[in-house]
Amino acid sequence: MSTHSLFISDLHLSPERPRINQVFFEFAAGVAARAGTLYILGDLFDYWVGDDELADPFNASVADALRRLSGKGVTLYFMHGNRDVLVGQAFVARCGAKLLSDPTLLDLHGARTLLMHGDTLCTDDVKYQRFRSLAHSPVLQRVFLCLPLALRRALMDRMRAGSEKHKQGSSPEIMDVAQPAVESVLRAHGYPRLIHGHTHRPARHLHTVDGHPCERWVLNDWYQRGGYLHCDSGGCRAELL
Ligand code: MN
Repeated sequence: MSTHSLFISDLHLSPERPRINQVFFEFAAGVAARAGTLYILGDLFDYWVGDDELADPFNASVADALRRLSGKGVTLYFMHGNRDVLVGQAFVARCGAKLLSDPTLLDLHGARTLLMHGDTLCTDDVKYQRFRSLAHSPVLQRVFLCLPLALRRALMDRMRAGSEKHKQGSSPEIMDVAQPAVESVLRAHGYPRLIHGHTHRPARHLHTVDGHPCERWVLNDWYQRGGYLHCDSGGCRAELL
């Protein structure tokens, strides 16, 4: 039995980036297959407008790669990111994965660890947080999912263009996590280790909150290179592919 866990996020898989897709398929068949558990902490896909996206051959090939992984006995967890908040039961069932809520506190090989996508920590970005609360509204999600697929994709394209414009017009500090938000989430969960993605600023940070030392790992995105966090009872280390 394997006694280590792997963490990935922000792959932003899409048919437009075949090179990184290849890195993902090789990761799923190789490195990930030797892990006990693989945690996907959001933004596996660049966009996802509903589980009927599974009819797309590329999306189906991603789900099937994850299915093969869970079929080998690797436990798979999926947490929503901001790009794939509409991933639903059909997708996770096809992968053989379980949905994780954001945040999730768990005992990770003996160390209390909090898992998040990370976007809720970017509290200085008020515009984004306003958009996020709409995107997470169950009523709005239900209404959106009733629209025809082509219309949902067109609306998503417009939202993505708006998000790009917003990012270009915002300072880098606003797009990063806010220190008070990090401290408050660590305090609220009893000063655990924190693992998250979203900001595309891979790093290991050390925070001292109310005298408690807390480690915070930020996962790398897969725009230039693939990579993952490897954790076992000895701790965590970041690896690039
Ligand atoms: Mn994200």
